[in-house]
Amino acid sequence: MVVALLRVMFSPTALADPQSTAIGTSQDGAPLTLYALGDGPKHVLLLGGQHGGPEENTVELVNGLLEYFTDNPAQVPAAIELDILPVANPDGLARGSRQFADGVDPDRNWGGSDWKTDAFDSNAVFRTGLGGPEPFSAPETQALANWVLATRPAFIVNYHSAGGFMFGARDGVAGDLSNAYAQASGYWWPQPGVGGQRSPLPYAASGSMNVWLRETGIAAILVELTTPRSTEVERNLAGVQAVLSELAGAG
Ligand SMILES: [Zn+2]
Repeated sequence: MVVALLRVMFSPTALADPQSTAIGTSQDGAPLTLYALGDGPKHVLLLGGQHGGPEENTVELVNGLLEYFTDNPAQVPAAIELDILPVANPDGLARGSRQFADGVDPDRNWGGSDWKTDAFDSNAVFRTGLGGPEPFSAPETQALANWVLATRPAFIVNYHSAGGFMFGARDGVAGDLSNAYAQASGYWWPQPGVGGQRSPLPYAASGSMNVWLRETGIAAILVELTTPRSTEVERNLAGVQAVLSELAGAG
């Protein structure tokens, strides 16, 4: 009787295949396809491929995570909706470029207090107009920002490569979630400003999504995979699972 009841309660058929929605359209006309698993009130967003072709391993990683949670839907706690956008920059992926079709960098176009029109790219090269003529100038940035503001996720993981470290808030709930991810995944999580340690990046990034999210009050981390090719699905799956159980336990 109890076993039968548990079977009904935890039946995998109670959860359907991921719902997919186009949250916007790229400059070359490709959909920005977001997959949703579960329908809880707390959203977690996994974001791949912001830097297109050169960081294609982040697309492979996020597709791997999508496949895992599609095959194991009971792993998404009832309190959570897991939202997955494997290809944040479809034109960059198709063209083998880091940038959008208009040459604007997807992680320099966000309207935090540090936005600048001229900016350093991920290879520490200073480029005119890389941040766009104004914040949120690219339709892809606008679409994702609108979705984030409408949804207000409890946590966002933005995947890049390659660096082998992660950034994230240290304080409050955001700090607890970042810490859960760091512990489970084992990525190096440098302490800014402690012991003279600086950002591991050899340049100052401006107009980044992470700064805008922090100023908007949304908890997020940026994970730099260790190499430009490795997908590192297992350790990032462990990180995501740690965040999901932390959020589900938080009530
Ligand atoms: Zn990147």
